[in-house]
Amino acid sequence: MKCPPALPMETERLAALAEYGLGSDRPLPSLDVVVRIAAHMFEVPVAAVNMVGDDHVFFAAATGFAGDGVDMSRDASFCAHAILQDGVMVVPDATLDDRFHDNPLVTGDTQVRFYAGVPLLSAGGHALGALCVIDTKAHHDFSADDRERLRELARMAADRMELRRVELFIERDRRPFAEPERRSPTAMIRFDEHGTILDWNDAAAMLYGYAVADGPDLTLELLAPERDRAGLRDLIARAVAAGSVDGMTMPPEVHGLRRDGTEFLLGFSLFCWRENGVLTFNAHLQDLSALRDEKDALKRLAGADVLTGVANRISFYRNAEAALTCPLGAAVVILDLDGFKDVNDTLGHAVGDGILCDVARRLTALARPDDTVARIGADEFALLLRGVTDTADARRFADAAAAAIAEPMVVGGFDVRVTACCGVAVAPQHAQEALSLIGNADLALSRAKHNGPGQAFVFVAALRMEAVARRVYNIELHRAVSDGEFVLFYQPQVDFADGSLTGAEALIRWRHPQRGLLSPAAFLPALERGPLAPTVGAWILDEACEQAAFWRRNGAPGFRMGVNLFGAQFRVGNIVDEVIAVLDRHGLPPQALELEVTENIVLDDDAVLDSLQRLHEYGVGIAFDDFGTGYASISLLRRYPLSRIKIDRSFVQGMVQSGRDASLVRALVDMARSFDLRTIAEGVETVPQCDGLRQLGCDEGQGYLFGVPMPAREFGERFDIGLGDEWVGWNVNRA
Ligand code: C2E
Ligand code: CA
Ligand code: CA
Repeated sequence: MKCPPALPMETERLAALAEYGLGSDRPLPSLDVVVRIAAHMFEVPVAAVNMVGDDHVFFAAATGFAGDGVDMSRDASFCAHAILQDGVMVVPDATLDDRFHDNPLVTGDTQVRFYAGVPLLSAGGHALGALCVIDTKAHHDFSADDRERLRELARMAADRMELRRVELFIERDRRPFAEPERRSPTAMIRFDEHGTILDWNDAAAMLYGYAVADGPDLTLELLAPERDRAGLRDLIARAVAAGSVDGMTMPPEVHGLRRDGTEFLLGFSLFCWRENGVLTFNAHLQDLSALRDEKDALKRLAGADVLTGVANRISFYRNAEAALTCPLGAAVVILDLDGFKDVNDTLGHAVGDGILCDVARRLTALARPDDTVARIGADEFALLLRGVTDTADARRFADAAAAAIAEPMVVGGFDVRVTACCGVAVAPQHAQEALSLIGNADLALSRAKHNGPGQAFVFVAALRMEAVARRVYNIELHRAVSDGEFVLFYQPQVDFADGSLTGAEALIRWRHPQRGLLSPAAFLPALERGPLAPTVGAWILDEACEQAAFWRRNGAPGFRMGVNLFGAQFRVGNIVDEVIAVLDRHGLPPQALELEVTENIVLDDDAVLDSLQRLHEYGVGIAFDDFGTGYASISLLRRYPLSRIKIDRSFVQGMVQSGRDASLVRALVDMARSFDLRTIAEGVETVPQCDGLRQLGCDEGQGYLFGVPMPAREFGERFDIGLGDEWVGWNVNRA
């Protein structure tokens, strides 16, 4: 028997393998379907995804495998040979192969004769194991096509493994404090629902007189004197019951207990968040008694941002007012971090907090002694620059601040790059009074953000005019609602299997009396942000359902209507009752309606989840719109009650030219199928795109190839529905 030689980069390969968290007792269930397909496709009794460890191999998934007693040593493993080469390793008859004829798997009870395996590569190109098919009969007819199909399945397996690695990575990172938090002067403790300490930073350990490494052995109770413990337990129990600490009354006085038995008066603020169903707490602590003058301490606490230690919003306003009463003047720079929410969502709150602390530190390093650095919003910072009255000088400060923020940071082991937009206003030139100075800097900031990430903008009077114009625009939107200027257009959706029309997506348009037909890009952002969204959303739902009912009665009995929802529709009123009432009103079965939601709407909101769940149970379709463009999509697939995903048009448009986009679409379709979801591709414009999608197994399509969004009348004419004649059906091939 020939033992496989070790690979040249074996240490690195094993390190890569470890990142997937797999083991003989930790298989990967998402691979089960892959091995089942493989066994079925090649008509063999056994298929497996086999990982090659240090001296043993183990299954990440297997089907038809007899179980115990099989030699799983690396020396005996066929897969250990397969990972030495790039392509598909085929052994038509092991008894005739000098590497394997005396192998215990061949001569023993397992009686392996045929083997075909493809290496599975990590993102970094290390062969971690192999997808293989095995038979006790020889196969001399394993063709080039078969090899290609096996390779195809291996790609699918590798995609799923990659998914697992990313999830694990995010999961692991959430736990410990990130580096800036670890070094932060603010004492922080993270603990779980039982008061067990998960992590604390240097300042917290020092506050209590312990070493940082002692943290995981301690509980919160051990850090409080006997008499305060019941109160503490009660506090945590109430938070766990409510799922939040918002609005909770805190014990009036809490003490800390040091390791040496001494006590101190403890000031603290508490945050919590839910992760995988479990509540995790973060407490920021201060030794109040250590501050000589308690009144002074309270004053400082009130004026400081707890996370970063810089001034908070209130003290920033106060300082700005004070600065403007003196004749020297001042400038205000407001900074907003770009894409911070995404960072928080993908890398976790610990990293997010770490970034905020680092930004605060950088701005403080830049400020002069009399300036004020403040955190005035979740990811908004502000600088008050005393005596700076020249716009060019203020702009230079803003640019320096943005540049300081843009320097690379390492937070919690991640290399992160953050950019910020800045808005600048100076007094007395732009405003004489603090509130309007800050308001003007804010308008400048909005313009900067509008221009793109990393932009700075100095206030000009026109911005005020535009703000007024926006207000007028909002008045116009009100008129549009009351005068019925909104209309719905309908875009066909088509079944790839037979080219038949399955339904339509309703898309809003505004027939503006002066500006003509406006598409959503021109007014939706204002509408979505304003108070009218729920009203307009309710109208869209009603109008679209009425149209669907009409078409279903007049020739298209199976017609399904897709309706886009606004986030506000989940926050105002009860969307579940509203949908059910609309369906009843028009005599529609729930399957006739499909609600389209985007990641922005559904992200991590339990109330939304609950509503969607109930609608889904009721039978209404839920489509995940613009799929593939966001960050959290994959985890949402698992948690959300969806019936199908809409593959975003950006992928469809690239798929013919770019192999990358094509394999992405394949992965999306495949992933959807493994979650039992149907797929529809958006933005199908050409026949090659249509053919490609059909081949990849996508169920339906929507796009200019089948029809642009059009008024109901035109839609009816085009597809022979609602015109009195009997519906003869419609076929893509006739388009
Ligand atoms: P969406 O939901 O992704 O809608 C698809 C958009 O892609 C539509 O733009 C449609 O006209 C366009 N489109 C369709 N096929 C093709 C194609 O083959 N090629 C290209 N290049 N584009 C195609 P539209 O109508 O301008 O809508 C834009 C967005 O506005 C929609 O994106 C949706 O997010 C929002 N929206 C539109 N109508 C409504 C509505 O009634 N309610 C809500 N809440 N949102 C709406
Ligand atoms: Ca949509
Ligand atoms: Ca879309």
